[in-house]
Amino acid sequence: MAPLCPLLLAALSLGLGLGLAAAASPGVVLLLADDLGYGDLGCFGHPSSRTPNLDRLAAAGRRFSDFYSAASVCSPSRAALLTGRYATRSGVYPGVFYPGSRGGLPLNETTVAELLKRRGYVTAMLGKWHLGYGPNGSYLPIHQGFDEFLGVPYSHDQGPCQNLTCFPPDTKCYGKCDQGVVLLPLLKNNKIIQQPVDFPSLTPMYDRFARDFILRAAKQHRPFLLYYASHHTHYPQFASVDFTGKSKRGPVGDALMEFDGSVGVIMKALQDAGVENNTLVFFTSDNGPELMRRSRGGNAGLLKCGKGTTYEGGMREPAVASWPGKIAPGVTHELASTLDLLPTIASLSGAQLPQVQLDGYDMGDVLFNNGKSKRETMFYYPVVPSKKLGVFAVRYRQYKAHYFTQGSTHSDTTPDRDCHWDTLLTAHNPPLLFDLDADPSENYHLSSSDIPNYSQIMEQIGNEKVKFELGMKFGESQTERGVDPALEPCVKPRCSPRPQCCFQT
Ligand code: MG
Repeated sequence: MAPLCPLLLAALSLGLGLGLAAAASPGVVLLLADDLGYGDLGCFGHPSSRTPNLDRLAAAGRRFSDFYSAASVCSPSRAALLTGRYATRSGVYPGVFYPGSRGGLPLNETTVAELLKRRGYVTAMLGKWHLGYGPNGSYLPIHQGFDEFLGVPYSHDQGPCQNLTCFPPDTKCYGKCDQGVVLLPLLKNNKIIQQPVDFPSLTPMYDRFARDFILRAAKQHRPFLLYYASHHTHYPQFASVDFTGKSKRGPVGDALMEFDGSVGVIMKALQDAGVENNTLVFFTSDNGPELMRRSRGGNAGLLKCGKGTTYEGGMREPAVASWPGKIAPGVTHELASTLDLLPTIASLSGAQLPQVQLDGYDMGDVLFNNGKSKRETMFYYPVVPSKKLGVFAVRYRQYKAHYFTQGSTHSDTTPDRDCHWDTLLTAHNPPLLFDLDADPSENYHLSSSDIPNYSQIMEQIGNEKVKFELGMKFGESQTERGVDPALEPCVKPRCSPRPQCCFQT
């Protein structure tokens, strides 16, 4: 037989590397709720939330009791989810991005969407981005591995959103939003298609986009990634006419119910496309509930405090993984994190891991074999991380030690004063130790008289902290690059006076 020419060999290996592997690769749907707490879902024990679609997903899939987002506010949490790295590495700190932020998730970071695109996936992002807009929209999802984007570039209260989030239109809505910046834009890829966003009609548009994307990918026999980051349950909560006033729980319940309805639409699309049995669906939330909104915020259930804190309520989240026939129904108590999604999805799709320091582990054994997690630790950075103070808390197996604690405005108004903004930074020496299996609410810290192996546990946690911090290289802060009002997204780029003229009639 004549030897194959090098070009043909190269073409064949490319075909095997992309086309054939891609044809067998599973679909991936990542569902991310916003400011939704550990206690907010029906299937996680909330008595008056109505989340039938998420409850069904949880009943058919694996529910996590010990799952963590990697930060207690939006931007760093989303950076970590998409890159598999703590946001201190990528520079998405301190705090979050604003409409005119100069910075964003650095383009040299590798997102899970970029990994999958190299494997022949089609990729789409829907909903709230919050990883930067930048000059000419240079940090938008279409520059971070997503073929398509429909959504808003940051949180929907980061613009004059009053009287936009209620139904019927012209109703006076509850709450205040940021003033002096542009009205919230809705983008298709990098083009503004609405300014301001018409919230009551947003979800039906999102639903159509998600369904069309899934059906189109299936028809083309292409594996796909759909990342749907809903912003409904973030303040000020909104819902369309079909859901307004329909839950027993008020506005946050209505918003959650509408998001749950979209989950139902997506599950139906997977069924109709015939790809339900070859798709991993993963649901979780970006950070804990914004308790300062009182009963209009979310609920951390039995966990202490919420958004903005390094207590459990800030970062421990409801999570569900579903894949009919591959993931057996049940509950896992193994430790896992949004950091683990990139390595897990890379492994499922045969993608090469990026050549950078990752903080995630492949959780395939937990998902598919009901096995043990490779993760034994979780590190908790505050909203304003610093090299000087380092991590505020460390979880090792079931034990958690707080080296520093601090309240947060986001977690104000609860009866627990430790959560409040005026509870200042406090160093703990020795650190406050809790057994999260025995005391998930972090009510009773332990001393050497409580447990015989106190010293060994403290030493082990201390060693894990030192090891982790030695390997932590802080990236250049992206949020400290500051804000330039001229960078705010505007539907009429050269109009004046800004921001008032950025308005589509
Ligand atoms: Mg959030």
